[in-house]
Amino acid sequence: MANIELPRKILVSRKALDETVNFCKELHLKGSCLVITGEHTKEVAGKRVFSDFQNNGFLSNIQIIKDESDIPELLEKINAFDFLIGVGGGKIIDITKYISNKANMPFISIPTSPSHDGFASPRASLNLNGFKSSFEAKPPLMIIADLDIISQAPARLIASGYGDVIAKLTSVADWKLSNIKTGEPYLSYAADLGLSAAQKILDDPEHIKSDIKFLVDSLINCGISMCFTKSSRPASGSEHMFSHALDMLYPEKKSLHGEQCGIGTIIMSYLHGQDYKKIRKCLEIIGCPTNAKQLEIPEEIMIKALVKAKEINPSRYTILNQIEINESKAKNILKTVKVI
Ligand SMILES: [Zn+2]
Repeated sequence: MANIELPRKILVSRKALDETVNFCKELHLKGSCLVITGEHTKEVAGKRVFSDFQNNGFLSNIQIIKDESDIPELLEKINAFDFLIGVGGGKIIDITKYISNKANMPFISIPTSPSHDGFASPRASLNLNGFKSSFEAKPPLMIIADLDIISQAPARLIASGYGDVIAKLTSVADWKLSNIKTGEPYLSYAADLGLSAAQKILDDPEHIKSDIKFLVDSLINCGISMCFTKSSRPASGSEHMFSHALDMLYPEKKSLHGEQCGIGTIIMSYLHGQDYKKIRKCLEIIGCPTNAKQLEIPEEIMIKALVKAKEINPSRYTILNQIEINESKAKNILKTVKVI
């Protein structure tokens, strides 16, 4: 297959950080690197990565960032470097990925939490115009997932990561549906990367919820699946559209991407005729919210988001193309699946 870009090194293990510099040498990376990290994640791993590179002959620098407002300054700065290293949670990695794509520069992804599949994907989810949208980017050259660090992430971020994997139960169902209804190409090997992980979680959540390596591997598989299609298609369907609608309608919310997608999966699995009760139970066991109250989002917003979801990406055919949903129908659906 032509022009598929994939990460060239992936390590998911305890003490994985110890290998970062060696891997760079193996890939013949040379010159100077900028470590991009956050106020908290610099203490967790950012400073350590910075000094490892400095002590091994790389001219390195470290930049602490907060959010998307730091992007213009970063873009001015990065020309002085040869590659970038993002050390942090979803936002830090997404920003690093976005600017590395703009500057056509390789980047290394070092996640400190497993809250969603963004640390391995070729898409960057950023709030650049007042609401969150997904931007094209390149996959990371390397992914270094140190389980000693990631397993210390707050339980809520870990549960959210499981929610983002569970979402593949409906994103793949939407993709299959589109293949049947519109003839859109469906790549089963890409779809199965995320779907088989989601299925395993669904079948044995009690056992899998404490297996951080399984979660991180699953999130990486979801990211890799998107490299094959160069779009978010395998990993993002109607449940993600519902989550993005929540982002737009209620920007002040505190809920996390994977939490919202988990609830989106309950709703869309019901519309697909899947066993939504089993999915809801699974999310409960994993520790993900399953209703509006737990998400701390008003019921009216949930109803409006379900009506609006279809408009989020009209070119992407999903189960929402098959059903006309007005506010009263949305309310009935959400009550049936006990989201409100
Ligand atoms: Zn996602």
